[in-house]
Amino acid sequence: MTATPERQLLRTPGLVDAHIHPDKTSWGAPWMSRRPAATLRELIENDRATQFGFDASVEQRSHALLSHALENGTLAMRAHVDVSSELGTANVEGVRAAAERLAPHLTVQIVAFPQFGLLTNPGTLDVMAAALDAGADLVGGIDPGGLEGDLHGHLDAIFGLADRAGRDLDIHLHDGGEDGLAQIREIAARTIAGGRQGRVTIGHAFALCDASLPSLGETLDRVAEAGIWIATCALGPDPVPDLDRFERHGVRLALGSDGVRDAWSPFGTGSMVDRAHLLAYRTGALTDAELERAWRLAGVAGGEMLGISEIADWAGPQSATRLEFAAESIAQLVTDRPAPMRVIRGGAEVRPPAAG
Ligand SMILES: [Zn+2]
Repeated sequence: MTATPERQLLRTPGLVDAHIHPDKTSWGAPWMSRRPAATLRELIENDRATQFGFDASVEQRSHALLSHALENGTLAMRAHVDVSSELGTANVEGVRAAAERLAPHLTVQIVAFPQFGLLTNPGTLDVMAAALDAGADLVGGIDPGGLEGDLHGHLDAIFGLADRAGRDLDIHLHDGGEDGLAQIREIAARTIAGGRQGRVTIGHAFALCDASLPSLGETLDRVAEAGIWIATCALGPDPVPDLDRFERHGVRLALGSDGVRDAWSPFGTGSMVDRAHLLAYRTGALTDAELERAWRLAGVAGGEMLGISEIADWAGPQSATRLEFAAESIAQLVTDRPAPMRVIRGGAEVRPPAAG
């Protein structure tokens, strides 16, 4: 008879979701079937059509997802929440209300995100500014070239708003190829010129994942010099970064979920244990060190990006903020992805209230 390996108590730092969209989720609601989409524009159109069809409110759906994430060890998240001339600030108010019900166990930073365009959707910049007074923390952006068609106009608008409001920036950039890299270099140049090193994040940045591009190395150096954080999500068909190459260039990376069971994708659980597993799988992790790196990107790195000191500067197994797993090691945990037995923040065990 083979003995079952003993599962010791393993204590780890808390997890951080560096990029998630709680306002779009169907979590806690009935199953939602999705329409086909072949392009980014089609996905955005499906999203727009879906947003007004939910029976459950943004607060209800967000609270269901955030509660589930917290139970699975996520103690902080960067939430991109849609604002537009059509939606106004309602989604930001809904996600903020959900987050307040889970404070202080879960820290939620909200990005005012112009999903449906900024220059191409007149009035949105004013709504973004209003969102910063309605519960949003950061200024967002989206594909200044590919979707907006005006790199400098889009960046003038969002960097200008961030300067006026004294906020940080977190910009979605799906555009690939040398054009995508050129946009990233322009964001890096503006980050340095404005003294914003360490206070700008780019989400997805698929162009940085394409090793065939001649200016990739130079662009990674500019990103590192500007202290720009890259948030990656290890999504099914999308490119993932070469983690070794990012490290060699000194580019800082954190991991997020992106959309969870929304119009964009039927997948996702909001668990960063699952997401660390997916990153490790997508990047071909083999050694314990590679599995442990995926875990660090799902937790400590996000803590650094969001400025959550009890995660970024974790004091070890006796820390008052920690997760407890029945697991042999981080490597085994990332592979088997159990839920935590206990989630503890500031010395108190987290028991999220039931979704409502
Ligand atoms: Zn996103």
